[in-house]
Amino acid sequence: PAPGSPDIVIARAVTPRPIAEVAARLGIEASQLLPFGHDKAKLPHAFTDGLAERSRGKLVLVTAITPTPAGEGKTTTTVGLGDGLTRLGHRAAICLREPSLGPCFGMKGGAAGGGRSQVIPMEDINLHFTGDFHAITSAHNLLAALIDNHLHWGNELNLDPERITWKRAMDMNDRALRHLTVGQGGQGVPRSDGFDITAASEIMAILCLARDLADLQRRLGEIVVARTRDGAPVLARDLKADGAMAALLKQALAPNLVQTLEHTPAFVHGGPFANIAHGCNSVMATRSALALADVVVTEAGFGADLGAEKFFNIKCRQAGLAPSAVVVVATLRALKMHGGVAREALGKPDPEAVRRGAANLARHVENLRGFGVPLMVAVNQFDQDSAEEHAVLREACDALGVEMAVSSHWRDGSAGSEALAERVAALLDAPAPEPTLTYADDAGLVDKVRAIATRLYGASDISLKDRARRQLEEYEALGYGHLPVCIAKTQYSFAADPEMNGLATGHVLPIREAELAAGAGFVVVLCGAIMRMPGMPRRPASAGMRLDEAGEIEGLS
Ligand code: ADP
Ligand code: MG
Repeated sequence: PAPGSPDIVIARAVTPRPIAEVAARLGIEASQLLPFGHDKAKLPHAFTDGLAERSRGKLVLVTAITPTPAGEGKTTTTVGLGDGLTRLGHRAAICLREPSLGPCFGMKGGAAGGGRSQVIPMEDINLHFTGDFHAITSAHNLLAALIDNHLHWGNELNLDPERITWKRAMDMNDRALRHLTVGQGGQGVPRSDGFDITAASEIMAILCLARDLADLQRRLGEIVVARTRDGAPVLARDLKADGAMAALLKQALAPNLVQTLEHTPAFVHGGPFANIAHGCNSVMATRSALALADVVVTEAGFGADLGAEKFFNIKCRQAGLAPSAVVVVATLRALKMHGGVAREALGKPDPEAVRRGAANLARHVENLRGFGVPLMVAVNQFDQDSAEEHAVLREACDALGVEMAVSSHWRDGSAGSEALAERVAALLDAPAPEPTLTYADDAGLVDKVRAIATRLYGASDISLKDRARRQLEEYEALGYGHLPVCIAKTQYSFAADPEMNGLATGHVLPIREAELAAGAGFVVVLCGAIMRMPGMPRRPASAGMRLDEAGEIEGLS
């Protein structure tokens, strides 16, 4: 297919290698796989348990500047860089999140990369894949059902029906389910409830942070679902829900292995959002990949202020990971947007706007330097990019003292990302430094939020609504003060207001509310309006999808 063909057309033109052949590149024998058809497999627990403390690979984090709503190409660049490293002869693997059906049918489309940098089979990965989202949804709703069942049979634990925080979950953008009343018609205890999208479920975050099955089961037991009428926390363990939930999730915790268009092994596992959760693929997948490959490229969601911050302060902290390099993806269109250009005009050359917008990149570079890991900038090249604009950006990177590589993997596959891969590989020669985290475990929860706001968001301070202050004080009193914080904020600005331009400084970060995710092991701190159940846009991506005469899917991108 010609460059620029629909993603699904490009993907379908490549014949996937048998998954056993892909696994063999990592030294895995076919008998060690749990195959899902010919082109997908899970690594069963018996195999991953044996990998336990082995770590041979170097970890590379792909993050981005403040994005436009279309996304700047972190997934695509992760795939392209992985293929570029393979092309150079490295034993490389990539780690990505599993797509959610919500964004797939809603605004963003699928999340398996794009152009010549995709993971395949993209239609399976974007739709039902190996059933992990189903398992997570089921485990989530089992717990919800057990709560209402407990109320129905006399409420022995004395749950306060007004203070049940565990809702229902479903993997769809369905705003009509945000608020509803359950227990109507004389069926159980009537109370307010609602649905969250599965990617926002605490179970998703738990699956992504658990180290093994035992840790999974322990974390499930720690989930706080409600308060008693006396205000004491009620855990999933109190409802004896943890064992059955772990049983439902056993297979889902096993990492999925697929391949890129160029047959680089790709672990696609777990899919938490990057606002109310930490936005990274599973620890199980990352650790398995590091045990098997020499270089592992992984993506963290949204811009670096959210995704990379949480990757370090939550995932690396909990899993003891130490990346060797960070790649910051920038696009000219996002830089021009930060330089004040209207969305309709982003396709036109405007070197001066790129120069102005580079201030956004500078802030992210400065922030990332704070973590103490070598970094470089990858410019994800679009067809309409001009050489003059690239030159302006190169000047800006020179002034920042950061290396930059233009990469055309979307158009050209690994032939286009070879230069980027060479530079990244050069960063990997030095031993991985211990990352410098933004705050210590024993700092107070409010101080943790303030550290992120002032050091990374450019805020002068934070302000707490009374409700948020009371909640954070309560979590500390209950013994959860050592947990990291997970800030739920818009990805479109350093500030909490998406309309504030890409370089907000001196703002005060407003904290509205907090939520305890004791199983996941973090405290969610909500700034501004954050959705746990997104809605569809006026023209959903689903409207362009159909099956053609041959029964093949069209319109999935
Ligand atoms: P992110 O992971 O940062 O959200 P993606 O890699 O998913 O971004 O890319 C977002 C969308 O942009 C995808 O549909 C992808 O195909 C498209 N895209 C990415 N890079 C390019 C490019 N260089 N040229 C054209 N489209 C691109
Ligand atoms: Mg992505």
